[in-house]
Amino acid sequence: MDNKTKAIDTPFRHADAYGALSMPVYHTCAFEFETAQQMSDVFAGRIPEPDYSRTMNPTVTFFEDKVAAITGAESVIAFNSGMAAISNTLLATAISGQNIVASRHLFGNTYSLLAKSFARLGIEVRFVDLTDIEVTAKAIDENTACIYLEIVTNPQLEVADLKALSQLAHSRNVPLIADSTIIPFTEFSGKELGLDIEVVSSTKYLSGGATSLGGLSIHYGRYPEIAKRIQTDMLFNFGAYMTPHAAYMQSIGLETLHARYKVQSANALAVATALEKREKICKVGYVGLESNKYHELAQKQFGKTAGAMVTFDLQSQEECYRFIDNLQLIRRATNLFDNRTLAIHPYSTIFVGFSAEEKAEMDVLPTTIRLSVGLEEVSDILSDIDQALEKL
Ligand SMILES: *Cc1c(COP(=O)(O)O)cnc(C)c1O
Repeated sequence: MDNKTKAIDTPFRHADAYGALSMPVYHTCAFEFETAQQMSDVFAGRIPEPDYSRTMNPTVTFFEDKVAAITGAESVIAFNSGMAAISNTLLATAISGQNIVASRHLFGNTYSLLAKSFARLGIEVRFVDLTDIEVTAKAIDENTACIYLEIVTNPQLEVADLKALSQLAHSRNVPLIADSTIIPFTEFSGKELGLDIEVVSSTKYLSGGATSLGGLSIHYGRYPEIAKRIQTDMLFNFGAYMTPHAAYMQSIGLETLHARYKVQSANALAVATALEKREKICKVGYVGLESNKYHELAQKQFGKTAGAMVTFDLQSQEECYRFIDNLQLIRRATNLFDNRTLAIHPYSTIFVGFSAEEKAEMDVLPTTIRLSVGLEEVSDILSDIDQALEKL
């Protein structure tokens, strides 16, 4: 069955009492049992039924089942934000005294989680260039708990060779964990590329119109002990499971994802292609452009479409500010893959907590603007960009 169909027609685990078409929102903290034995079986995990919504809830389970059907994962755990999915997954993987070999190019909070929060816990992080397999191989030792990267980095738009990294990871018996937020899992197979665990901020493409925060930890079965630890220790003790209301909205969002993604990617390609021709723009970043360094590899790994995140560079930070202030249609906001087009200056916002040296190390530049291209008519998006450029 096609992913588009699975996104809509994944069956409920139990028939609904009223024949509801959408999975209802089970807004309840706890569930009742008929017998003490049944209660014990559920608490012991012998029967996979909900007892308490901190660890299992039918609306969230339905969302997880849809994601499992689409990705071919053995297990999927939904969290209340992308950062919760990332932090819980990595805390279930690495312990004090171990190290994580991670890309130098990471989403700002993920970088901070690894460099600051994990350092306090005694988990070392080795930031390396994961597009260089030899350098990556040298960074791995007997205390390496995992390799961690983003499939297309935000905002640098770097793409590593996932099959090569997977071969390396498996030859050294360490899991390969990737954040696939930037290209949705409906478009490519993380499993076939050799990922062991995928983490996703479902706040972005999945939620559909930026309705709710959410995160996913998707497991392909090579490291079942990590999935088990998340389902038991992490959900029970850290308590960051997705809420039923968010799961309801994200299930609905997932149903229309392929249609929204197609339009947003096409709009992003049209915007990136047009921006390449504008004199005031020094550089355009989009892996869907043939001129992009990672174009071929990105197409091979993720298919013909390249997502809705586009970056471009102006002469200075001051010019970036003026451009953003000139916008009339495009919104000045963070977030990615909303239905509306958004613009942000990452250097002074998402990465504001880092020093100039740290930002230089991460290749986050003061001259870059990041766009998340929406579903509007593309000529309206381009007109707004052009009038904002003209006034510079
Ligand atoms: C937004 C984002 C996150 C964090 O997700 P939240 O849902 O905001 O917690 C992680 N990784 C990437 C690549 C992101 O874009």
